[in-house]
Amino acid sequence: MTLMVKIAPKCPHCDVTMVHYDLPPIAFSDGLGWGAKFLWVCPNEECPIFRKGYNHNINQYGNTASLRSIIEPDSGLASVVPTLSLDPEHFKSFVELRKVQKKNLEKADKLTEPKDTNDPYDLE
Ligand SMILES: [Zn+2]
Repeated sequence: MTLMVKIAPKCPHCDVTMVHYDLPPIAFSDGLGWGAKFLWVCPNEECPIFRKGYNHNINQYGNTASLRSIIEPDSGLASVVPTLSLDPEHFKSFVELRKVQKKNLEKADKLTEPKDTNDPYDLE
């Protein structure tokens, strides 16, 4: 396959030079591979895709993974891939969000508990 992007490109989101990332040897026809031997990946931890990826994944999937900007070298197509990099700031906000969600679930459980039918003061 002919490579369209042979020299490390700049990330389209932050203009930092991307790095060569070798992919595992999984065939594209398996539905698991990329159809390329490597990807160009943005290494910048301040890249907007990386920073916003934490919020996206916490809100959509409830985990603390993020996203990194990529360019496929054979097609030049820009996209994103998940990354499991841990960011302490976002992890802290994830833990706080989970505490609030747990409190809200406990409140909801109390509201839906069956009432004591032997309560003489319950007129309903
Ligand atoms: Zn970037």
